[in-house]
Amino acid sequence: MSFDTLGLSAELLRAVHEQGYNEPTPIQVKAIPLILEGRDIMAGAQTGTGKTAGFTLPLLQLLNSRPSDPKKRAVRALVLTPTRELAAQVEQSIITYGRHLPLNSAVIFGGVKINPQIDKMRRGVDILVATPGRLLDHARQRTVDLSKVEVLILDEADRMLDMGFIHDIRKILALLPPKGQRQNLLFSATFSSEIKQLSHSLLNQPELVEVAPRNTPIELIAQLAHPVDQGRKRELLSHMIGAGNWRQVLVFTRTKHGANRLAKQLVMDGLSATAIHGNKSQGARTRALADFKQGSVRILVATDIAARGLDIDQLPHVVNYELPNVPEDYVHRIGRTGRAGNEGTAISLVSTEENRLLRDIERLIGRAIPKQVLPGYEPDGRSRAEPVERARGDRQGGRRNGRGANTAGTAAGTGQTNGRSGNGRNQNSRTANGQGAGRQGVSRNSKPAQPGARHQPSTRNGPVKAGYRPLAERMFSDQDGG
Ligand code: AMP
Repeated sequence: MSFDTLGLSAELLRAVHEQGYNEPTPIQVKAIPLILEGRDIMAGAQTGTGKTAGFTLPLLQLLNSRPSDPKKRAVRALVLTPTRELAAQVEQSIITYGRHLPLNSAVIFGGVKINPQIDKMRRGVDILVATPGRLLDHARQRTVDLSKVEVLILDEADRMLDMGFIHDIRKILALLPPKGQRQNLLFSATFSSEIKQLSHSLLNQPELVEVAPRNTPIELIAQLAHPVDQGRKRELLSHMIGAGNWRQVLVFTRTKHGANRLAKQLVMDGLSATAIHGNKSQGARTRALADFKQGSVRILVATDIAARGLDIDQLPHVVNYELPNVPEDYVHRIGRTGRAGNEGTAISLVSTEENRLLRDIERLIGRAIPKQVLPGYEPDGRSRAEPVERARGDRQGGRRNGRGANTAGTAAGTGQTNGRSGNGRNQNSRTANGQGAGRQGVSRNSKPAQPGARHQPSTRNGPVKAGYRPLAERMFSDQDGG
């Protein structure tokens, strides 16, 4: 299948070819013609599937083909995203794909000065990409006019709801023309009952579009779990990174606080590390991501929400410092490693209290994750894991949990006492084991967790990745919790 058959204009095809894209991804094949027809769509697709070009290319074409009043400074298309990083990435795509068209765009999000955004809005913006909170600030100050929006796009709608943006979204919808007078596109990786409710109030006879996640199939990722006490996880992590000479590692924690603390401790161990989450200034977040992508920072410590939407591909190492409380998040996390045939390992550090979470994950992926106790790091089960942090109501990555953080802080401190002896720079008898930590015993072909483990589904598009259910099933099943 070629891009030339999708009905895109010469200017857009030129921009696509300049990007080096040879053929459209499945979501692009399905979504582009429907959007060009003016249909509303409800799409099940996550980051990595090419969804951004899937809506940006037809959006640019539609706006360019319709007359606009140059004197009116009203926004013609609005893209709402949950995070600042995603907003910035989407606007960058609009600039890239729209480079041969006379349309302009802007991105607005919090954490940076509002005045430059106001100046930009005054000069006139065709396509506005925004996070909900800052957009409402502009609306209150009357520095944005949304009454002429022709196309509305909700990107990562599920995360927006998880982050408590539903009220902001409803307020924004009230500022737009009625739903029948605009085109509406909703993208979401999961479909909870809240998403279904939102889709009813937002979409006009939508066409369902679904594709399997582009994540590396679970069978191709080398997975391993190390049972270890919570209080010794940091020590073990430093050791594995140092001994294995890992150059680029994405580490997941449950909380922002935990991410910060871990990054600091890793730096104290002599490893370059930085954390990315919603409490950081926008400049710090952008810098952290750029440094990690360029390789000047070795370890990026992230929460699920902060990492979501980041276009970081083909990582050699993903570490679950703490297991996610939602098993599907495990699949999203580890899918960032080993893409496009590259070697990749996904290692989970599992404390005794997390065994239940591990079993839930194994049930979901339909296979046992090999476990390897590392000599010198045998768990004694005395320290406690970070309490599970809920994201709801927290705009940028989960709420603070002082008590849990203190508990884990004490535990981490215990580990730190021993830290120097176990890290990669100051090797002792654990070195041999540590080198093995990243390389030995990693199985790509383990057996299913139990005879009754969930069967891996497949669709007309071929085998489906673990954790994936067809959109129609997710849309219409009452048990769907998203
Ligand atoms: P997205 O899912 O929109 O975040 O896109 C993920 C990545 O895929 C981005 O780095 C895009 O530049 C890239 N991409 C989008 N469409 C294509 C395509 N047709 N061929 C190759 N890469 C693509």
